[in-house]
Amino acid sequence: MAMAATHQPQVLVAGAGPAGLVAGIALARYGIGVLVVEKRAAISTLSRALVISTRNMEILRAWGLEAAVRAGAAEVEPCGWVTSTLASGEGVEIPLGYPTTAEAAAVSPTRPAWAPQDHLEPLLLEQLRSLPSAQVRFDAELIGIEQDDDGVRAVVGDRASGDTQYVCAEFVIGADGAPSAVRALLGIRLEGPDDLAEYHGIQFSAPLTGLLGARRYGINVVTHPDAAAVIAPRGLGDRWTLAREWRPGQVRLVDATENDIARLISTAAGVPHVRPRIERVSAFSFAAQLADRYRVGRGFVVGDAAHRMTPRGGTGMNTAIQDAYDLGWKLAWVLRGWAGPDLLASYEAERRPAGRHNVERSGDPGGARRTAVAELPHDLNGRLAHHWLLRRGCAVSTLDLLEDGLTLLAADDEAGWDAAAATLDTRVPVAAHPVGTSVAAGIGVASGGAVLLRPDGQLAANWPDPTVPPAAELAHLGLR
Ligand SMILES: Cc1cc2nc3c(=O)[nH]c(=O)nc-3n(C[C@H](O)[C@H](O)[C@H](O)COP(=O)(O)OP(=O)(O)OC[C@H]3O[C@@H](n4cnc5c(N)ncnc54)[C@H](O)[C@@H]3O)c2cc1C
Repeated sequence: MAMAATHQPQVLVAGAGPAGLVAGIALARYGIGVLVVEKRAAISTLSRALVISTRNMEILRAWGLEAAVRAGAAEVEPCGWVTSTLASGEGVEIPLGYPTTAEAAAVSPTRPAWAPQDHLEPLLLEQLRSLPSAQVRFDAELIGIEQDDDGVRAVVGDRASGDTQYVCAEFVIGADGAPSAVRALLGIRLEGPDDLAEYHGIQFSAPLTGLLGARRYGINVVTHPDAAAVIAPRGLGDRWTLAREWRPGQVRLVDATENDIARLISTAAGVPHVRPRIERVSAFSFAAQLADRYRVGRGFVVGDAAHRMTPRGGTGMNTAIQDAYDLGWKLAWVLRGWAGPDLLASYEAERRPAGRHNVERSGDPGGARRTAVAELPHDLNGRLAHHWLLRRGCAVSTLDLLEDGLTLLAADDEAGWDAAAATLDTRVPVAAHPVGTSVAAGIGVASGGAVLLRPDGQLAANWPDPTVPPAAELAHLGLR
């Protein structure tokens, strides 16, 4: 076993699933040197997650990926349809916690996308590879970590050649999924059940869209006694997933013949002789677990490495993306010298409660059926309110004004907010934007005052008087 020369990115990310790819992009957009190592030879081809939440679509929109994501999304309402069979024409609409198109338009410049993970991941990988300070290595498995005050030394094995290499970095991120090696190496434990139910899923293609008429929903909950299952579109092209909980006495789908599966799909569809093209049949157990910590020293866990959720509510990948985005910009601020290391404590403080909420929701048998009123606030997580305004003749959202450093929004610039921003004693760039009085009122800016926002749209500080910088309110960011 050869031990090759060391490689020295600023941040090493283990895993090129959604969490690792997003962490890599979030860091490399700031010019941070990041190496993403992935033990597989390529990214996953499993559809798995089918819906991208409102907030995550906002992040992808800010990265210029909205149109490409939407191009592979099924045009459905992100709600459920409970029906005896797909062809029955009768059923009941149920909420899944996502806003409808009309509801989303009131709160966001975008809306959820019913796009499968195997459509999203290649887009993320392409964007990551386009960033000069990012590198991605496949067939590369993180197998060891040591850390001290100065940095992290990881051992990465090349699965093709059998060689190993040391990688020295300032920080390591475990985005290596539910069985996370990084989590184990850091001594972080998962708490909660991992055997809530045994589920089986079939990925297949079949001409079912025409059966639904105008009723296009994210999931169809089929109640036929011989074919009770959830059937959901996987993006475009009549690609579908059928999933059901295994019950004692039932044939496990992984043990069923192709004819059994075709019969099951025909019964659920409500039409005879559907001939599906079966891509994959898999079994998985429902877990609802949360890591006892998200960080040990210079090591962090994000995504499924930090929490395991059942598919109820569709929050697994969505939480993973938000974790990775949050940690990415915070590490970038620290590595750029804009903030001190204390900022990093806010990653666990902010993301673990969000993880806990979604883990608990996913463990609740009724957790999928929640209203958008109940769940959207957890997804948007208190970010700046969206309002449209005109900029050089174009409609832009208040969210479009957010920049990589701090963003100052004030009603107008008469009070000299540009000059006031320059008085902040910090290396973080501060961009000031006038938004007009009605938008200012809508986003909670006091008359004559301003707000300072983080890149994720969270409030950094209220700034009521331009002559008095809000130093105390900004202290939690550890600005330099
Ligand atoms: C059947 C099913 C349906 C789902 N439906 C939904 C849904 O509707 N909505 C939703 O939001 N979520 C859903 N999920 C969950 C979603 O797929 C996961 O939450 C998401 O993939 C988590 O992303 P991640 O990047 O954290 O982990 P992963 O996607 O698991 O990626 C981890 C990556 O790390 C790599 N890796 C592992 N160990 C190492 C190592 N030591 N070194 C280097 N690389 C390593 C792995 O090969 C993998 O590529 C579903 C999951 C399943 C199984």
